[in-house]
Amino acid sequence: MILYCEKCQFTFEGKQCPSCGRKKVREPLPDDLCFLCEKQITWGEMLQETLKNNGIPVIIKKRMGIGMALKVGPLLERVKIYVPFSCLQDSRIIANELFSEADEGD
Ligand SMILES: [Zn+2]
Repeated sequence: MILYCEKCQFTFEGKQCPSCGRKKVREPLPDDLCFLCEKQITWGEMLQETLKNNGIPVIIKKRMGIGMALKVGPLLERVKIYVPFSCLQDSRIIANELFSEADEGD
């Protein structure tokens, strides 16, 4: 069974959140925002565009603050990508297709 951690916005299989160890988790609802993946900003924006083109409402969160981005350079900035749970499965497929041939630069 898939469970959802509200704190991390993370879906997982098992009894507790692998990210924060929280056990007070619940089943995901269709509108729950779920963590999809973390990418460098250029890849993140590409994925965001692709998901949007597929009709998936995507939310992108910058991981670093602006100060940090200035220090290391905007190209190294990483973003976290979130989609509603109802679109998570499709989004994973799209992301896999998008990045299967591309070098992720990780
Ligand atoms: Zn968690």
